[in-house]
Amino acid sequence: MSNASAPELNLLKARMKELSGLQAAAALMYWDQATYLPEGAAEARGEHLATLEKFAHQLSTAPEVGQWLESLSRQNLDEKSNDHFLVKIAREDFDRNSRLPAEFRAEQASHASRSYEAWKKAREANDFSIVSDHMKKTLDLSRKMAEYLREPHHKSMIDPLIEISDKGFNEANLRVLFGELRSRLLPLLEKISAAAPFDDACLREHFPEDKQLAFGENALKKIGYEFSRGRQDKTAHPFMIRFAHSDVRITTRVRENYFGEAFFSTIHEGGHALYELGIDPSLDGTPLAQGASTAVHESQSRLWENLVGRSLPFWEYFYPQLQSTFPNQLGKVSLAKFHKAINRVERSLIRTDADEVTYNLHVMIRFDLECDLLEGRLKIEDLPEAWNERYRSDLGLLPSKLSEGVLQDVHWFHGGIGGYFQGYTIGNVMSGQIYATALKAMPDLEDQFRRGDFATLREWLRTNLHQYGRKFDGPELMKKITGRELAAEDYLRYLETKYSKLLTLA
Ligand code: ZN
Repeated sequence: MSNASAPELNLLKARMKELSGLQAAAALMYWDQATYLPEGAAEARGEHLATLEKFAHQLSTAPEVGQWLESLSRQNLDEKSNDHFLVKIAREDFDRNSRLPAEFRAEQASHASRSYEAWKKAREANDFSIVSDHMKKTLDLSRKMAEYLREPHHKSMIDPLIEISDKGFNEANLRVLFGELRSRLLPLLEKISAAAPFDDACLREHFPEDKQLAFGENALKKIGYEFSRGRQDKTAHPFMIRFAHSDVRITTRVRENYFGEAFFSTIHEGGHALYELGIDPSLDGTPLAQGASTAVHESQSRLWENLVGRSLPFWEYFYPQLQSTFPNQLGKVSLAKFHKAINRVERSLIRTDADEVTYNLHVMIRFDLECDLLEGRLKIEDLPEAWNERYRSDLGLLPSKLSEGVLQDVHWFHGGIGGYFQGYTIGNVMSGQIYATALKAMPDLEDQFRRGDFATLREWLRTNLHQYGRKFDGPELMKKITGRELAAEDYLRYLETKYSKLLTLA
């Protein structure tokens, strides 16, 4: 029986509730900044955000929190109770936050915004030297952070950084996973490239923005996104953000001359949102009320975007509606042709535009380079050349400007070096294994999609994954949901089967 009356537990819960209120306020300020904030107000907003973050840090690392946690970890809380998980996760967060000195975090934050501004200028001017000193400092700070968080089980510099967002993973086990992916994705890519390129001209007609948005919102409702607990706005870079169980918002961006942009980013962010909306509401106001990890979150967005949203059964239901929304553009385009177009594979320079087959190759390049940087095998001044060399050898392409090369992603210029990119690929692999498990449990799932019914899948995901929030980490969840350790097989088989079918279509 959990000792729910322990005074420390009530104090901890009250503190966590205050913290989640502060975090929600900061998140709302950030959402506003990305959507509607007047340009001239950016600096004031930055200061307000910094104030909130300072208070949140103080409240979360105050000595009394350590004392409560210390006392609670000596009590025998029922291991199945939410209180047990609350204490476990709150303790992990407290330990991590307390190991990073306040001055270090402040230095990190102010450096991040300077580096971000330099990155924007360097992209404009196509000049790496504008950002290289900032990046040296970022590398320094990332190494320092790894040192602060380092524990005996960490073997590589990047390991403590990976653990922040993807517990259970490290350089060694990711190298095995990535190696397996590579050994089958490269031959698949060869096979697809040898065939005639998929024609996606039908997606590149003019698609008016209002109609695209309306079509996307209708699809969101169909998969179960509730507009009574959220909304969709437009931003330069789409994202999902949670303020509370009753308020999970998403954003999208529209290109009128390309149908693929808004729709698939809407479904992607919708997948993230379904995860957050599905978390047990009784966890609200605690650190358990969020997704388990970057990778698990991506597994949900990609499951809806790719495994469901780019599948034939999904479009057997939606395509007639899409054709009547855009009769001039798509009225004469067959479903088979459209389905092939949205699954076009192409070696390209830009990660965020990459298809399902090449996407992970982009991630692996970044992962290898950041390991080399952190371990001191690669110098910042040699990074652009090393980047180009990897794109030449892995994808057979050479960027003609830095914004298509080493300066394309914001991650190394706003956050830190190491610990983020791997989550995208782990998430892809998880999505394959989770979906294979769902299909085994519900063999008629795709027939349901053909009828426009997505509730069974959504509810299955909620029961088996979403409801738990952060109670379990990625590897624990995979075991719980699929009964197996994470492995690449299901994901690779999904891609190989899908593309061998698509290749036989004219
Ligand atoms: Zn995502």
